[in-house]
Amino acid sequence: MELNQSNYYSPEADACYFSVSQFKDFMKCEAMALAKIRRQYTPPATRAMLIGSFVDAYFEGTLEAFMKDNPAVFTRKNELRSEFRKANEIIGRIRADALFMQFMSGEKQKILTFELFGVPWKMKMDSFVPDICITDLKVTANFRSLPLWRYDLQGAVYQAGVEANGLGHLPFYLAVATKEKVPNLDIFRVPDANLAIALEEIGERISHYADVKRGFAQPSYCGECEYCRTIKQARIRNYNELLEG
Ligand SMILES: [Zn+2]
Repeated sequence: MELNQSNYYSPEADACYFSVSQFKDFMKCEAMALAKIRRQYTPPATRAMLIGSFVDAYFEGTLEAFMKDNPAVFTRKNELRSEFRKANEIIGRIRADALFMQFMSGEKQKILTFELFGVPWKMKMDSFVPDICITDLKVTANFRSLPLWRYDLQGAVYQAGVEANGLGHLPFYLAVATKEKVPNLDIFRVPDANLAIALEEIGERISHYADVKRGFAQPSYCGECEYCRTIKQARIRNYNELLEG
């Protein structure tokens, strides 16, 4: 399957290829990941996610289409909601920062497909500067929460994907803006050593996830996530369970 901007997120593309977000879904809960791929479960988009998407759309040059697709951006009076005024403020800060803009100056939303650990992958880069670097734009609550999102896994796949396409071994950067009252900006390089460890972790898990995705193995249910809660049946439990840990 040939990927482009209009079919990249399609059910067919998700069935055909692994992606970093799919891989991270499998790490969280295999049953949820599979249900998402099969479109049996779609987690609702939160406003917090929409702020990031708003800023992404601006730098992609697709803000107009984004606002048309997301009427939640506006109030009933047709004014930008306060969160999106925040997004506009962040965009303004980024535009005024020469270094940040340099990292965002590459080819936008470049799609690559490749094979890694015997399975097909897809990836889409926020900013790709040939022979220089791969940059992903993040709009986040604060800098400290970044490692929780495991961007090392994303960097590992992107670096491997660029290399597999014969485009060289390039460093991976996160261009980060925060949603704090006064937005903060910095460029974080995820060191190659971290990416190598993350890639190893992917290699250890991917064949099982691929088996689950193909239907060769049963998915495990975490029992805790929102998807698991939508399909669970009530059971009788001891009240004291709630007092432990
Ligand atoms: Zn679950």
